[in-house]
Amino acid sequence: MSQPARELYPLVGRNKELEKSVIQIDRVKIGDSKPVIMAGPCAVESKEQLFTTAKVVAEAGGEILRGGAYKPRTSPYSFQGLGKEGLELLKEVKQETGLLVVTEVMDLRDIQLITKYADILQIGSRNMQNYPLLREVGKTKVPVLLKRGMNATIKEWLLAAEYILEAGNKKVILCERGVRGFQEYTRNILDISAVPVIRHLSHLPIIIDPSHATGHKRLVAPLAKAGIVAGADGVMVEVHPNPDQALCDGEQSLTLDGFKELAGEINFLAESFGKEVGDVLS
Ligand code: PEP
Ligand code: MN
Repeated sequence: MSQPARELYPLVGRNKELEKSVIQIDRVKIGDSKPVIMAGPCAVESKEQLFTTAKVVAEAGGEILRGGAYKPRTSPYSFQGLGKEGLELLKEVKQETGLLVVTEVMDLRDIQLITKYADILQIGSRNMQNYPLLREVGKTKVPVLLKRGMNATIKEWLLAAEYILEAGNKKVILCERGVRGFQEYTRNILDISAVPVIRHLSHLPIIIDPSHATGHKRLVAPLAKAGIVAGADGVMVEVHPNPDQALCDGEQSLTLDGFKELAGEINFLAESFGKEVGDVLS
């Protein structure tokens, strides 16, 4: 018999007595009955780009604005993000739209600054096993979105989450964003099974990111919907007012109209399937 989840993962593991965790940030509840939509550009580029996107995200029922100010880029010659200026823009747009903000932290030295701007700290795929970083965000009180490492097993991912809880921060949201495979058509392979597996093993909320999983805008909506039907607590998608001009990840960014359509479909699915979707504990 396999080892009980509470033994393997004393803090993030689930058992029958333990309710699913709901992470509440202001009025937004992540892990509750309604799936949460997080959307925005890959990187913050300008006030106009961010505000135009955020307005549509808010109008379509999205609750959290994403946008990287510090970007983990494969090439050191690619756009690296606006840094502090990007954080300032996120704050301005948050004030104007009422959206909450999620943004990535890559470096221990930036944590203090970013916590002044972010409602959720994102730990990206490349840093899922950066244990000093996990410990440090674990010492803050700001909720953490922990993306799955592109080469990580579910066990490694849950143990990474365990580091954050062990350091004191119980507010962790998991994000499945695809893992590496052998085929070249999609950027990664969205492990849709991770959704019910996590719901079975852990009390933490789980969302999916079909943008980084696929790398193609036309694949984002079908997989976002599949994730919701599989029981995800929300989605994170990239949206850009002009994807062809994006400084980062334009190929996988939805247009504003594409996003509106997807948001409507997600809200419809959420109403049709209700709360019990994906609860596979027993
Ligand atoms: C991102 O969300 O901006 C990002 C870089 O994603 P990932 O860490 O999943 O590659
Ligand atoms: Mn991106």
